[in-house]
Amino acid sequence: MKRILVLGGGSAGVMFSNRMRREFGQDELEIVVIEKSEKHIYQPAFTLVVFDLDDPKNLVRPTKDLFFDGIKLVIDEVTKIHPEENKVTTTKNGDYSYDYLVIATGGRLVYGEPEGMKEGLEKGTNLFTFYNMDGAVKLRDALKNFDGGTIASTVCEMPIKCPAAPMKFIMMAEDMSRRMGIRDKCKFVFTTPMPAVFSRQPYASKLESIFKARGIETVPNFTPSEVDHDKGIIKDFGGKEVKFDLMSITPPHEGMSLIENSEGVGDAANWVTCDKHRMVSKKFENIYGIGDATDFPTSKTASGIRKQAKVLVSIFKAILKGEAPTATYDGEIICPMLTRYNRVMFAHFNYEEAISPAIESYANWVLKVHMLRPLYFNLMLNGLV
Ligand SMILES: Cc1cc2nc3c(=O)[nH]c(=O)nc-3n(C[C@H](O)[C@H](O)[C@H](O)COP(=O)(O)OP(=O)(O)OC[C@H]3O[C@@H](n4cnc5c(N)ncnc54)[C@H](O)[C@@H]3O)c2cc1C
Repeated sequence: MKRILVLGGGSAGVMFSNRMRREFGQDELEIVVIEKSEKHIYQPAFTLVVFDLDDPKNLVRPTKDLFFDGIKLVIDEVTKIHPEENKVTTTKNGDYSYDYLVIATGGRLVYGEPEGMKEGLEKGTNLFTFYNMDGAVKLRDALKNFDGGTIASTVCEMPIKCPAAPMKFIMMAEDMSRRMGIRDKCKFVFTTPMPAVFSRQPYASKLESIFKARGIETVPNFTPSEVDHDKGIIKDFGGKEVKFDLMSITPPHEGMSLIENSEGVGDAANWVTCDKHRMVSKKFENIYGIGDATDFPTSKTASGIRKQAKVLVSIFKAILKGEAPTATYDGEIICPMLTRYNRVMFAHFNYEEAISPAIESYANWVLKVHMLRPLYFNLMLNGLV
C-alpha cells in the first residue's frame, strides 16, 4: 500500500489529510501525519482577541481530536527531509519513509531584526505583536488602558501570514478610539515596506480612501532597521523615523528550519519552492507543498488553504489512479478585512484578478466575527466546504 506522509498538522495538514481520508479507505492508502504540537490554534481570530471579540480559550483544540479515524498522527518534530531516499528524520521516532510527501509545516516569526524588537516585545510596555496568542492578549490589555497618543502598526517584511491583518488592526484601533471617546487625543500611523497600503485593486483604492477619510497616516517603503521601545521610535534603513506610544509590530516571517536542513526543497527564506498551479515541488516529483509553507505568490491564508486542499486531493486522485493530474490551484484567497466595528470588507482574488467588489458590510462582519471559527472547526477542517 502507498504511503502519503504529511509534515505538519496545522490548517493545511488537517484539511488535506481529512479530505484524503474521505476519498480513500484505510485499505487503499496509508496517511501518516507528523506534527510537533499537541495543540492546534485558530490563528485568524487573533485579530478578534485583540479587540475582545473572541475569547482565547475558544481558539485552541487538541491536535489529535481534529483528524479522522484511520489517519496515523505522530507527535514529533521532523528535522530533515531526504528527498533522494524518500524519507524524513524525526527527533524522537527515527526515520519515516514515504511514497509521496506533502509539506504543510507553515511559517515562523523571526525576531532577530529589526534591532530592539525582541527586547521591546519581551518588555511588553509599548511594543506588541498579535501574531501569536500571548501577544494578542497583551495587546488587548494594553489597548484597554490606552488613553491617548500615537498608535502605530508596522509590517517589517513581506511575505507575512494574512497580509491584511496589520491594516485590520490600525482601522479597528482607530474606530475603538472613537468608541472610547479619545479620538481627538490619538494619532494613527501604518508603516509598510510596500509602495502602498495594499497591492490588489479594487481593495487598495478602497483602503486608501478609508485611511484618508479617517486620518490614518500611511508611511510606505518603510523597512524597519531598529526599534527603541524606551524612546518610542522606530527607524527604517533610509533614516526615516516614526514615533509611537503603542505599536503593533509584525515580525519578519520565514519557512521552518527543517526546510533549511533539506537540500533542494526550499528557497533562501526556507519557503518550499513549488509550481504555483500544480503544487508540486520544483525539484522533486513526489513532493508537494500546501499552505503557508509554500512560496505560492498569493496571501498566506486559511481560506487559500481550503481551496489548495481540494486541488491537492484531486491531484492525488489522478496520480493514485495512474493518470496525469489536471487540477490546478489558481491562487484564490478570501481575506475578511475588519474596517471598523460592525463592518468587514472581503478581499477576494486569485493570481490574475479580483473576484468580488470592495464593499464593507454588516453581513460580512457577522460571518467573520460570529461564524467563521465554528465553520472552520466543524466544516473546513473536516473538508466539508
Ligand atoms: C494574526 C493572523 C491573522 C490571520 N487572519 C486570517 C484570516 O482572517 N483569514 C484567513 O484565511 N487566514 C488568516 N490567517 C492565516 C492563517 O491562520 C494561516 O494561513 C494558516 O493557519 C496556515 O496554516 P498552515 O497549516 O499552512 O500553517 P500552520 O497553521 O502554521 O501549521 C503548520 C504546522 O506545522 C507544524 N510544524 C512546523 N514545523 C514542524 C516540524 N519540523 N515537525 C513537525 N511539525 C511541524 C506546526 O507545529 C504547525 O502545527 C491569519 C494569521 C494570523 C497570524
